[in-house]
Amino acid sequence: MEYPDLGLIIGGKWRSGEGRDSMPVINPATEETLGDLPMATAADLDEALEAAERGFKVWRAVPPNERGKVLRKAAELLRERRDRIAAIATMEEGKPLAQSRVELEMAAEIFEWYAEEGRRAYGRVLTPYPAGTRMTVRKEPVGPVAGFAPWNFPLGNPARKLGAALGAGCSVILKPAEETANAALEVARALMDAGLPDDVMSVVFGVPQQISEHIIGSPTIRAVHFTGSIPVGKELMKLAANTMARTTMELGGHGPVLVFDDADVEAALDQSVMSKFRNAGQVCVSPTRFFVQEKVYDKFVDGFVQRAGRLNVGNGLEDGVDMGPLAHDRRITAMEDLMADSKAAGAEVRIGGSRSNRKGYFFEPTVLENLPDDSKAMTEEPFGPVALMRPFSDYEEAVHHANRLPYGLAAYAFTRDHRTASRLGDDIESGMIGINTFRISVPESPFGGVKQSGHGSEEGIEGLESCLVTKFVSEA
Ligand code: NAD
Repeated sequence: MEYPDLGLIIGGKWRSGEGRDSMPVINPATEETLGDLPMATAADLDEALEAAERGFKVWRAVPPNERGKVLRKAAELLRERRDRIAAIATMEEGKPLAQSRVELEMAAEIFEWYAEEGRRAYGRVLTPYPAGTRMTVRKEPVGPVAGFAPWNFPLGNPARKLGAALGAGCSVILKPAEETANAALEVARALMDAGLPDDVMSVVFGVPQQISEHIIGSPTIRAVHFTGSIPVGKELMKLAANTMARTTMELGGHGPVLVFDDADVEAALDQSVMSKFRNAGQVCVSPTRFFVQEKVYDKFVDGFVQRAGRLNVGNGLEDGVDMGPLAHDRRITAMEDLMADSKAAGAEVRIGGSRSNRKGYFFEPTVLENLPDDSKAMTEEPFGPVALMRPFSDYEEAVHHANRLPYGLAAYAFTRDHRTASRLGDDIESGMIGINTFRISVPESPFGGVKQSGHGSEEGIEGLESCLVTKFVSEA
């Protein structure tokens, strides 16, 4: 398949290189250059900001059902273009084609969700106080939104940022990850082809820090939606503080999985291995710290290692591949550093532990045991194909481990005991909890973390709310 030319979208209009600096987009499975990505200049960013001001006035005045038609049409176009767009996402990010197709469906469903939910930005009428007055609470679009989407879900992440803003009636400037530029541009293209008016959306690329300083530094931007690492999230919050722009932060986690003695161990294993190595572990809600009750510990770890050993690692475009490469070479360096530190800390490598001996950014599915609780692996998000195993004796110890770190994005547990399941729902400090399942994200459900994993939610009614402000009008 031919890889489309790369570009920028400024105020709904395509821009190509035209003398701008550029950077290569690399296929992580082959290390070949796919194309040259133009980087936005300061003048481009100013134009995008001016367009966002104009676009906000236009788009907020479009009735929500009409806005919904554009989002629904874009969802339809994404599905029509499924095979082409999924292939682009796999070429850029590396995940197996089947996973890119599922992600494309997720992007389409997100657009459909916001198409509907935008019609339900209800306010309320208060009882008159004093009698004869009229008091209303209204929900209005917050203003131009800046969205920053990372590379790990090259279709789903841009759809989340664009869908929420557009469904609420906001204009938006999106900065997707440079590594997966064309996947994001295809999501944007579907919106343009569906009839999104000029000026409402811009998509820009460049040096991330320069772009965020420029865009968030502008008083035009009223909300910042970021998905990425905790350190970068903190920097963006500092920038947003200057203009008091609202923030939604989807940051990292360190997903605990509690497997109790009474669990259906085989079912837990099948789901755990699939979920752990999905997208080579480069998922913010990836299960990573497996705490397994003593009686089933050996059985669980052996079963996990066997299943991990059967995974077919390769180029995601090829049939039958279960796990692709890591998305870029920085992840390989990060994994190698983590392995060196873990081995020095006394870890037992049950399987994997190294870069694969082939071209491309491939890293072996890895299972580690015997890590001290204060080791780097047990305290910092690996963001790679690494599972950590540790036994526990009772409920209190399991919950202690789940809650021990300063993160709280996603947590999971496997048990057949209803009382244990319901206590876990109360006791675990996490934005999302899956019990006997890893399915914790549908368009209807709020997706977000607590503690240092961030604040605010995407999707659900909360996702729309993140792009709305509340206004109270009192009329005598
Ligand atoms: P990175 O911190 O360089 O980049 C992560 C993402 O943030 C990228 O999309 C990047 O373009 C963006 N970014 C970086 N600096 C930015 C800035 N100043 N302004 C705006 N955007 C900026 O790291 P990386 O090597 O690409 O990824 C590694 C880490 O990022 C992982 O350890 C993980 O914690 C985090 N990450 C998280 C998610 C998630 O879904 N929460 C997704 C991707 C990466």
